[in-house]
Amino acid sequence: MLGSTLVRAPVVEGRAVTAALHLHAVGKSFGRVAALRAVTLAVDPGEYITILGPSGSGKSTLLRLIAGFDRPDTGRVEVLGQDLAGRSAHERGVGFVFQSFALFPHLSVFENLAFGLRYRRHAPVIDAAQVGREVDAALALVGLSGLGARSVAQISGGQKQRVALARCLVGKPRVVLLDEPLGALDANLRDQMALELTRIQRQLGGTFLHVTGNEQEALALGSRVAVLDQGALVQIDMPRRLFERPASSQVARLLNCFN
Ligand code: ADP
Ligand code: MG
Repeated sequence: MLGSTLVRAPVVEGRAVTAALHLHAVGKSFGRVAALRAVTLAVDPGEYITILGPSGSGKSTLLRLIAGFDRPDTGRVEVLGQDLAGRSAHERGVGFVFQSFALFPHLSVFENLAFGLRYRRHAPVIDAAQVGREVDAALALVGLSGLGARSVAQISGGQKQRVALARCLVGKPRVVLLDEPLGALDANLRDQMALELTRIQRQLGGTFLHVTGNEQEALALGSRVAVLDQGALVQIDMPRRLFERPASSQVARLLNCFN
C-alpha cells in the first residue's frame, strides 16, 4: 500500500526513473546523540517534499548530509543516481538555503550572487557578461529585478530571504535544500514567500526538499510530507493521508490532531 511504505520506486509511464535523491539507511551520531537513525527516503525528480519535525529531530543534520557538508556514519546518499560521497554540494547539483540566510552583509545583492559563480570549484570559469546574465535571471526569478546594486545591509528581511534563495538558484541546482526557509519571516511575509516557493519550484522544475517545524507549512507546501521524530523518519505520505491516518500517536501529536 502506497501510504504505508517509506520508499517508493518512482515510476513514470510504467518505467522506473532515477530518484532525484535517495537516502539508504542513513545514520549519524554526535557522541551519544543519535541525530539520524537509519533514514531511508526516495524523492522523485520535480517533487516538492517537506520534512516536518520538532527542534532537535535531525532536520538540519539530514540536509547537511545531502549537501555533503557532513558524512553519514552509516548508509549512503545518492543524488541523481550517483553515490557522491566526498564531493562538494555544487558538484552534486545541490543548492542550499540556510536558515540564517548566511549572506555577506558588506557586499551588494549582485556581488552576493556573483561570488558563488566566480569562485566555485570544479566548474569552468565564466566571463563577466555571463555572470551578469545569470545573476539577473536569478534575481528576476525571485522577484528582485533591479535590486542588484543595493547593499544587503539596506534590504528588508523578506528581501534577504529572496536573495538567499536567488544565490542558491544561480548555480542551477537540480536539488534545492531549504532549511526552515520561512522561519525568520513574520506571518504575512511567510504566506507570501510560501506561494513564491511553489511558483519558483514549478518554474524551475527542480526537486525541492524543505524542512520545517511548522505543520501548516509542511502540509500546505509538500506534495508529500516526511515526519521526522528523534532522528527517525516515522511516516511519509501525502498531506491529506497524514491527517486521516497518522501512523502513530507521535505523528498525530506532531500534526496537532489528537484523534
Ligand atoms: P533540527 O534541525 O531538527 O533542530 P539538528 O539536526 O540540528 O535538529 O540536531 C539533531 C540533534 O543532533 C540534536 O540533538 C543536536 O543537538 C545534535 N547535533 C546536531 N549537530 C551537532 C553537532 N555538530 N555536534 C553535536 N551535536 C549536534
Ligand atoms: Mg535545524
